[in-house]
Amino acid sequence: MTATSAGRLLVVSAHAADFVWRAAGYIALVTAAGGTARVICLSFGERGESPGAWKQPGMTLQRVKEIRRAEAQAAGDALGATMRFLDKGDYPLPGDDEILLELAELMRAFQPKVILTHARADPYNYDHPLAADLTLRARAVAQALGRESQHPPLGAPPVFRFEPHQPEMCEFMPDVLVDITAVFDRKIAAMAAMRSQDHLARYYHDLAERRGVQAVRNGGSAAIRYAEAYQRVFPQVSEVLA
Ligand SMILES: [Zn+2]
Repeated sequence: MTATSAGRLLVVSAHAADFVWRAAGYIALVTAAGGTARVICLSFGERGESPGAWKQPGMTLQRVKEIRRAEAQAAGDALGATMRFLDKGDYPLPGDDEILLELAELMRAFQPKVILTHARADPYNYDHPLAADLTLRARAVAQALGRESQHPPLGAPPVFRFEPHQPEMCEFMPDVLVDITAVFDRKIAAMAAMRSQDHLARYYHDLAERRGVQAVRNGGSAAIRYAEAYQRVFPQVSEVLA
C-alpha cells in the first residue's frame, strides 16, 4: 500500500505539538502523494508542554494558547495538513463523554482511512494515553449504526500508535517502520515551527535517523535515511504475508 491509497489520514494529538515530533513524516507523505491529512489537537498543551512560552515574563494562559495555536498551525501548514483545535484543556485533559462524542462525530464527518494516535501508556504524561483511549472509544462510537449523527457510520480504519518519548516505558513496540526520507525536510520545517519546545527538535531528528538505520536493517531500501515507527492496534488484513 502507498501513502496515496491510505490517503484520508486522521491524527489525534493530545497536545498541540505531539503530532509534529511523532507523525510529521507520515503526514507529509500522505499530503505529498495527494492525500488528505487532518490533525485534531485536543488541547494546546498550554499548561504542561509549553516551557519556552512560560519562561517569558508576564505570560498568561490565554497568551500561551495563542502562541501554541500559531506554532501548531504553522507546523500543519508545513505538512499540508488541515488543523482542528478543540481547546479542551491539558494537565489534565478531560476524559468525559462530551469530548468523546465530539471526536466520534468528527470521525464520522471526515471518514478517515487511517487513524494515528498515542501509545497505550505513558507514566510521564497521562494526557497521552487518555487521548489514545478517547480515540479508540470514539472510533467504536462512530461505528455504531444506532448512534444519532448527521454523517454515515465509520468503517474500520486501522489505528496506529505513533512513537512516544520513552517507548520502553509506554508499552510501545514498533511493528511498522515508515520511510520518511523523501519528506524529511518538511518534518524539519514543522519541528522548527514549534518554538515553545525547540529542545525536542534535535532529539526527534536523531530518532528519525536511528529508525532509518533500523528500517534498512529490517529489509528496507539501502537509500532509507529517516523513518518513523508505528505500532498497530488491530490485526492487519492481507491476502499475502509480506
Ligand atoms: Zn503531549
